Amino acid sequence: MKNYDLAIIGAGPGGYIAAIHAAKNGMKVALVERKKVGGACYNVGCIPSKIMLEHSKLVQSIERGRTWGINAEETTIDFAKLMRRKDKIVDELIDNLGHYIEKNHVAYYAGEATVADDLTVTVGDENFTAKDIMLATGSKPFVPPFEGLETTTYYTTDTFFDITTLPKELTIIGGGVIAIEMAFALAPLGTKVTVLNHSEDILQTEEPDARPIIKKRMEELGINLVLDFTFERFEGNVIHTSIGEMPFENLLFATGRRPNVEIATSLGLKFDGRLIDVDLHCQTSKPHVYAIGDLIGGVQLAHSASAEGIHVVEHLLGRNPKPVQQDEIPRCVYTHPEIATFGLLAHEVQEPYTMIELPLRTNAKALMEGNTEGFVKLIVADKDRRILGACVMGDKSTELLNSILAAKTAGADIDMVANMIYPHPTMSEHIGESAREVFGRGIHI
Ligand code: FAD
Repeated sequence: MKNYDLAIIGAGPGGYIAAIHAAKNGMKVALVERKKVGGACYNVGCIPSKIMLEHSKLVQSIERGRTWGINAEETTIDFAKLMRRKDKIVDELIDNLGHYIEKNHVAYYAGEATVADDLTVTVGDENFTAKDIMLATGSKPFVPPFEGLETTTYYTTDTFFDITTLPKELTIIGGGVIAIEMAFALAPLGTKVTVLNHSEDILQTEEPDARPIIKKRMEELGINLVLDFTFERFEGNVIHTSIGEMPFENLLFATGRRPNVEIATSLGLKFDGRLIDVDLHCQTSKPHVYAIGDLIGGVQLAHSASAEGIHVVEHLLGRNPKPVQQDEIPRCVYTHPEIATFGLLAHEVQEPYTMIELPLRTNAKALMEGNTEGFVKLIVADKDRRILGACVMGDKSTELLNSILAAKTAGADIDMVANMIYPHPTMSEHIGESAREVFGRGIHI
């Protein structure tokens, strides 16, 4: 029977990155995947959704150009072609992953893995062992068990990215990041989008000051947002709710995800009924078994899964790595404008702090680009000027946030962000300006 240093189950952004990192550091690695390399992120998550959002952003830019005096002919959408472009990019990225895995001599097993109590891994007819096992089995869409759901058909994010015809109408159930991103992906192309969210607001895990800007933009895009009601039952293409009947043509559930815990439960690992319990090094209750990514708690995003995977490998190599810090993981919403955040929100801070929020409308680059909706918000500890949290909302803010995060990760305080020299004219200047304003020294205030 073959024996590896490390067997990784699941080749999403947690598993495949850990596998390559381990192989590059001299470990003999097996990687098992039952579907496609790249996991949810590449196949039915980050990548296809962001490609679709890029298409809809371009449509909005064309519209904005019209208001400036650039009169292009009427915009028409060849949706099938856009989706072929999406498929091509996804295929290219997944092909690349295959090459990296092969180049680094990771033994790749295609198929469903099971793991026995003695840590023997079985994939089809093959069995092998490993000194350590990393579970990176990810998650799947969760659909609440509504009454009458069997009478209707619906999409989840596992099936939605296969559509080839632009839906005339789309009702999205959910109010979290994925639901709102999908509304922004479709509405600018011409789909009449309705978002149904039973609670009183959207994006409730995100910066509260970002929500009104997103809701205003949704209104401008003609997205019908319905909040604060109770779902009663489904009957064919009608949803019965506490505020009346809601007919729909196409339905997408974006109501969260649940971890794939089959292997973890078969091994009797400790878990809270939903997520697998791990320590600071992602070690489960069973020696030599680690779990990372969507399978465990904390920020459930691709880059946190990757960081956790690398951390486990470093830990196994005996390098005493610093555990992954939740407050150093960026959280991004790719709406238009984008919202990028790390660390604490103001209501979560439990020490004296100074908070600065500078709207983008005084930033020269934002004005030039017509992208003035947004702000830079910084939360800094009074005691020692530590950066406790930051939010940048605006066009490409998901790219901008990391200049602040770099300072925090390097252990620097807000002075470093204030003292950096920023190119002019850029949106990033607004970060420097906000950092200076923490001390009341902003210039263009
Ligand atoms: P996964 O990506 O779920 O990978 C797990 C893999 O394990 C899967 O391929 C699965 O087939 C495999 N597997 C499971 N069980 C077995 C088994 N027994 N044997 C073999 N293989 C198995 N995150 C971001 O950071 N940025 C974004 O913009 C973003 N957008 C998203 C948009 C959508 C629509 C969705 C749904 C998610 C998005 N996410 C985004 C979240 C991101 O996709 C996940 O956090 C990330 O994929 C988790 O990585 P993972 O490696 O833990 O698991």
